[in-house]
Amino acid sequence: MEFISTRGSAPALDFEGATLAGLASDGGLYVPREWPRFTEAEIAGFAGLPYAELAARVMEPFVGDSLTPERLRELTAEAYGRFAHKAVTPLVQLDERQWLLELFHGPTLAFKDVALQLLGLLFEEFLGRSGHNLTIVGATSGDTGSAAIDAVANRDNVTIFMLHPHGRVSDVQRRQMTTVLAPNVHNLAITDSSFDDAQAMVKRMFGDTAMTDRFAIGAVNSINWARLMAQVVYYFASAVQLGAPHREVAFSVPTGNFGDVFAGYVAAQMGLPVAQLIVATNVNDILHRALSSGDYSTGTVTPTAAPSMDIQVSSNFERLLFDLGGRDGKALAAQMHGFEATRAMQLTNAQREGAAALFTSARADADDMSRAIRWAWENCGELIDPHTACGLHAARASDLPASVPVVTLATAHPAKFRDPVERATGNRPALPARIGDLFQREERCVELPGDYDAVAEYVASHATPKA
Ligand SMILES: *Cc1c(COP(=O)(O)O)cnc(C)c1O
Repeated sequence: MEFISTRGSAPALDFEGATLAGLASDGGLYVPREWPRFTEAEIAGFAGLPYAELAARVMEPFVGDSLTPERLRELTAEAYGRFAHKAVTPLVQLDERQWLLELFHGPTLAFKDVALQLLGLLFEEFLGRSGHNLTIVGATSGDTGSAAIDAVANRDNVTIFMLHPHGRVSDVQRRQMTTVLAPNVHNLAITDSSFDDAQAMVKRMFGDTAMTDRFAIGAVNSINWARLMAQVVYYFASAVQLGAPHREVAFSVPTGNFGDVFAGYVAAQMGLPVAQLIVATNVNDILHRALSSGDYSTGTVTPTAAPSMDIQVSSNFERLLFDLGGRDGKALAAQMHGFEATRAMQLTNAQREGAAALFTSARADADDMSRAIRWAWENCGELIDPHTACGLHAARASDLPASVPVVTLATAHPAKFRDPVERATGNRPALPARIGDLFQREERCVELPGDYDAVAEYVASHATPKA
């Protein structure tokens, strides 16, 4: 399988190349040249498979010749063997039609582990072949950082620099990053900055030849195709449990960077009968506005109890716009350059109509989130985190026929965001035993101003040149 850039002028790459590149050299994002499609019989055959085997089958068409089928299975077995639940991503029933898909049984308690545990192994595999060094630079609104750091700590040929907006991630999130003392891990707290500011600096570094000439800069944000690919798997896993391919299933997805819900779109393109994808946002609702009125224009970021969704620019939305706009890289590059200049754009008719066929959206404010957390606790005995609460709020508000089960993606463990959960329910979720000593561990972190040159200089003086 070949991967092409959404902006049409970067070279096409194979799976190994796309995994190591992250962002394409023309500023676009890599997508497969076409969507592989499973037959109904193949999807029916997924029922009852162990998660690691299902993962290998769903990913095989994308991986192509970059890994043998045996090696791919070894890697998925290793990645998903580290999860604390045998089913890896178990489904929990809330009422006659609402379900939770628990994606937080990995080492750092958020869904990002599902993709990043695999990505860490893919990096090690591909770099080991070439002997090259990779410098990972990422920005996190909380959960990507800890999941990426856990996935690459102490791995050969990789150094990671993780930027987070100082003071804008939860204590648990911060400590999950800063207590990893491996020598190849650098935590950078960027003062007076939002997640979007930090992400903009990371994007700039990918296009800064003074950096890219010396260092192979790689991405762990969901701009990396391999991450999205790994997330497609749990859409298949859950839908098949609920009766696919013979029954349609809807998903409600707490959304920030549009990575997780785009994986649902990919699953639908691959033949999964998805009735609807509900894009759930908090009050940072650019995606809700884009999908309901075609207006994709940024506002200012408002901090909420669901910080991993406190973003305005959703990088992966570009992948959807590319696919819905007839895969015209030149036209999309013009549209995105316009957006980058003005911070606003209108979706084309084709993009709006294409999106409306599969997506709806809903926005949750602070009261909506608390109410959803309370409803799950009082009616179902389940503690859910504020991100999941945005999803459940949207799922319960949807007007789908009663025969369609609605799966809300439970993207974080409630213990990761204990204060809002306690405020809503009077119940303080306990940290799972495997990270119970988090608040006793030593922290290490460097504070830097929100200034690109300061960050680039820090990275340049601590990274290992490519080869
Ligand atoms: C990252 C994250 C999200 C948003 O996911 P995207 O793929 O960026 O849309 C939602 N919830 C939690 C807990 C997250 O960590």
